Amino acid sequence: MPARSVRVSGVVQGVGFRPFVYRLARLHGLSGWVLNQEAGVEIHIEGDVRAIQLFLAELANTPPPAARIAAVEVTEAQPAGLSGFSIRESRRGGAPTARISPDLPVCDSCLAEMRDPGDPRHGYPYINCTNCGPRYTVIERLPYDRPFTTMRAWPMDELCSRQYHDPADRRFHAQPIACPACGPRYALSIAEAAALLNAGQILAMKGVGGYHLACDATNAAAVNALRERKFRKEKPFAVMARDLAAARTLIDISAEVEALLTSPARPIVLAPKRVELADVAPDNRELGVMLPYAPLHHLLFDSGAPSVLVMTSANRSSEPIAYQDDDAQLRLSGIADAFLIGERPIARRVDDSVARDGPFGPVILRRSRGYAPAAVCRLPHEGPILAVGPDLKNSITLAAGGLAFVSQHIGDLEHYESLQAFDETVADLLTMYEIDRDSLLVVHDLHPQYASTLKALRIPAARRRGVQHHRAHIASVMAEREAWDERVVGVSFDGTGYGDDGAIWGGEFFVGSTREGFARAMHLREALLPGGDAAARHPAQCAAGFLMQVDGAALDHPRFHQALRLAQSGVRTFRTTSMGRLFDTVAAMAGFTREVTFEGQAAIWLEHAAGASPTRTPYPFPIDGAELDFRPLLAAIATDRGDPARIARSFHQAVAEAVVRAACQLCEAHSIPTVVLSGGVFQNTLLLELIQRAMPPSLRVWTNSAAPPNDGGVSLGQAALACF
Ligand code: ZN
Ligand code: FE
Repeated sequence: MPARSVRVSGVVQGVGFRPFVYRLARLHGLSGWVLNQEAGVEIHIEGDVRAIQLFLAELANTPPPAARIAAVEVTEAQPAGLSGFSIRESRRGGAPTARISPDLPVCDSCLAEMRDPGDPRHGYPYINCTNCGPRYTVIERLPYDRPFTTMRAWPMDELCSRQYHDPADRRFHAQPIACPACGPRYALSIAEAAALLNAGQILAMKGVGGYHLACDATNAAAVNALRERKFRKEKPFAVMARDLAAARTLIDISAEVEALLTSPARPIVLAPKRVELADVAPDNRELGVMLPYAPLHHLLFDSGAPSVLVMTSANRSSEPIAYQDDDAQLRLSGIADAFLIGERPIARRVDDSVARDGPFGPVILRRSRGYAPAAVCRLPHEGPILAVGPDLKNSITLAAGGLAFVSQHIGDLEHYESLQAFDETVADLLTMYEIDRDSLLVVHDLHPQYASTLKALRIPAARRRGVQHHRAHIASVMAEREAWDERVVGVSFDGTGYGDDGAIWGGEFFVGSTREGFARAMHLREALLPGGDAAARHPAQCAAGFLMQVDGAALDHPRFHQALRLAQSGVRTFRTTSMGRLFDTVAAMAGFTREVTFEGQAAIWLEHAAGASPTRTPYPFPIDGAELDFRPLLAAIATDRGDPARIARSFHQAVAEAVVRAACQLCEAHSIPTVVLSGGVFQNTLLLELIQRAMPPSLRVWTNSAAPPNDGGVSLGQAALACF
């Protein structure tokens, strides 16, 4: 009798894979067993050859919805003369590489039960099954078994226990299984919460990976109160729409946007606005919308909550999201009018993810809930690598067993809370994957004063290595494609990053490959940055450093003149080639001279302004040797005195045209057919569109998709460069 041994790797644990195999084997009359092991799922089957073939085909083609198969390895096996098929005890050998499933949105079967008055789980906000529910946010350690989850405090009752142990049930080994009789509950009634929202109140609500603050998005007074209490002046709020139909009234929904909105990660999707909700996303052409993903959200809408809710991470300003009950109550008192607190603890904070469909395809802008901690790519390295990222939009990448796991979004490492989250995430990743410190390579940014660098120097490890920020951006794109030897022209534009020469880089062109390294081939002409980081908050201050090189160009603003004196004296003044700061300068010249209240605000304002203008003649932005010379560009703007829309448009066209011209020149000089774009500036959709339009068809363009083009993707690039 023929027998086969089958090993399946990928996200195959905690997603109902073993019961699926069990049912499939029985369907085809095969005997044998299935078990979880450290690298995934192992199967032994024996029986009719034809039945084995059908079994293997269905295994690969119709896996459970939440499973992500990386590889299926089939080998001949000795028949053991087994009768029947069984699910065996998990087996542990070496260090675990089985991938932890990201959190999953409630499935249709569970939703139907939740809405059925006759079902034991009717109206229950913690309903879940092997196809849906929390994973990463309830796992305290591996293996993924109930005693190691935040559900360990709730013993199963007879109903849950029966389903949990029945291989034919949808809840077979569903670790977070619960029902109203035995499981956790919510403190405030959901109907009451819906009524409060309708009355214009602000609700703090415990979700899957942290607390949200919610209010009626169409109630301007409520939205305003939320902004004031949260100290969040202008940064856009995301909204949750009750369903796709409600979402359609808010944003343009293409097929790609719909696919993102309804994908298992249920990210916040940025898309062009159709309506202006007062104060929700001011001076922005886009609005961030997500669909309900937790059973609680559906219950809230079913109970009559407003069909569009502002749903923002519960925190003050840019602190990390609150996720522990006592901490949330402490931090959110004075912000929230009421609390909707569920009893199930959250193992780790995981924010909502953010994605968008751009000119070069869908891209994840914040990789968190629903994506973390899935592997992004393979890495050609034997030993473990921990890449700690930069200080802004921090994320951490762990390479283990040849796979790159990118952590959830941690945030800006300037708050005590974020630094704590950083430490927790490092400890979490190293413990979860049982990393051997004696072979660990720790990778950090070159900036000697970065908190992440200082932290990296204190992590016990065998070796350490610094990687330059902008090269890491380019390498993040290469890593996604696992293209280690491909030579490319890399364009790395962002706000700030420590350069080889100690200057603040951010308008960089590189030539090379991940394996050989990236050589700086061209850059924005150097300007002065008076006051350093403060210049990033004050576009007029930033403008002084650039405009001092342009005759007769000045802004009538007190900060401008102060900064000019600072720059002329050389005090607290740095050299920079930052493209982000050039965007700030132009925004200031076009009228945006107030203090920015969130990163990238002036550039977003400028993109928004440009969208209101038809195509223009680009300003001159010549290449002089290895430099893009901004002087003719800024001189032209200074004499243009046009309206903001015209300045913004001609500027965007000038940058796009210069990128294409520089890329063509470098590609030709080095016989390279591929251009890579990465860095925070390339979150600008208009700029990408203009580049796409101007790029000759002989050159292909690679951009980020699974890793963010902003600093959230830097840790992946650091890990990739450290492989060589
Ligand atoms: Zn379900
Ligand atoms: Fe960056």
